[in-house]
Amino acid sequence: MIYADNAATTKVSKTALAAMLPCFEQVYGNPSSLYAFGQEAKELLEDARARIARCLNADPKEITFTSGGSEADNQALRTAAALGAKKGKKHIISTAFEHHAILHTLDALKKEGFEVTLLDVHENGLVTAQQVAEAIREDTALVTVMFANNEIGTIQPIAEIGAVCREKGVLFHTDAVQPAGHLPIDVRAQNIDMLSISGHKFHGPKGIGVLYAKKGIRLENLIYGGAQERNKRAGTENLPAIAGMAAALEESLAHLDETTAKLIRQRDMLIKGLSEISHSVLNGDAEHRLPSNVNFCFEAIEGESLLLLLDDKGICASSGSACTSGSLDPSHVLLAIGRPHEVAHGSLRLSLGEDITDDEVRYIIDAVKEVVDYLRNMSPVWRSLNEGRQQFVLP
Ligand SMILES: *Cc1c(COP(=O)(O)O)cnc(C)c1O
Repeated sequence: MIYADNAATTKVSKTALAAMLPCFEQVYGNPSSLYAFGQEAKELLEDARARIARCLNADPKEITFTSGGSEADNQALRTAAALGAKKGKKHIISTAFEHHAILHTLDALKKEGFEVTLLDVHENGLVTAQQVAEAIREDTALVTVMFANNEIGTIQPIAEIGAVCREKGVLFHTDAVQPAGHLPIDVRAQNIDMLSISGHKFHGPKGIGVLYAKKGIRLENLIYGGAQERNKRAGTENLPAIAGMAAALEESLAHLDETTAKLIRQRDMLIKGLSEISHSVLNGDAEHRLPSNVNFCFEAIEGESLLLLLDDKGICASSGSACTSGSLDPSHVLLAIGRPHEVAHGSLRLSLGEDITDDEVRYIIDAVKEVVDYLRNMSPVWRSLNEGRQQFVLP
């Protein structure tokens, strides 16, 4: 099997697993217990916090553990909304191609009286700092723009957007679930006030994440109960997952330069190979994109059929995101960059892992070409396009 869906989730690394096991078997005390055995767990917890903080160039006090990227996104937005509301600021700026953890939280906030501006995304999958600057108003409480998109992999000008927000005195949050462990992140240099990451997108375990919030930002609770996480996130800490996430993040960053170079080379091999398919288009800017991400639309193809036939050939890929697959709606991300519905339906996302080989990349190229040909040959739409009864959308 070739696993090319690392944007959906990743395999837990051996290092991460090795860091987790002692927390199940030996250091299983409750970090809140006062006896030495509990304090051992507390030490592991604070050690993991300090190491994660170092990876982001943050202070340990600025790190709050959550159940994952979704919870971190929810808590960041709820925090900014509460802080804004106190000052009569009820306007939030975001983009049309955010993850649903952001978009659906914004929908909930709208029902509570917030006004939301979703910036248009250019056809290349990028938003600009200037768009953000132009959208900021007196009553803007928050700007939230994702660091890198989970479907088309485009990397936003985060430091510039952060600088605009700083200058205008507006809080800036970024969903950094995709780039964490895959691109350098520095919350200070990049002017980030709040940031979300998730363990399972960089070879850590599922169900664990981090909300970074700059010193001075008082987090709003989503979960009330015990005094864990400085009273801001109740519930006994998931120590095994936290230890695994810290180990995974450090490990990814230790090999960042070599994996980035290797993945960019393989990504571009894939892009070159798939570009040979007629009436196809690469989604998202070719350069400002995650080293692991390839996303194409093929005219007259149903994404679902493509995925099933690739599955028969042993390739795990996706069409849209894991959250929208299973529904028949086309991807909101592809619609946001201006792909028409019928084209957006024919999308394929391949997200490469560190261990993929060149032979596997070549196998994927051949398999996609073969499957696209096969599906088009059976397609009445393809026939009518070729007989000129319908216009091609893609060149
Ligand atoms: C996966 C993902 C999330 C959700 O993270 P979970 O830990 O699965 O809740 C949020 N945002 C982006 C961009 C993602 O890719």
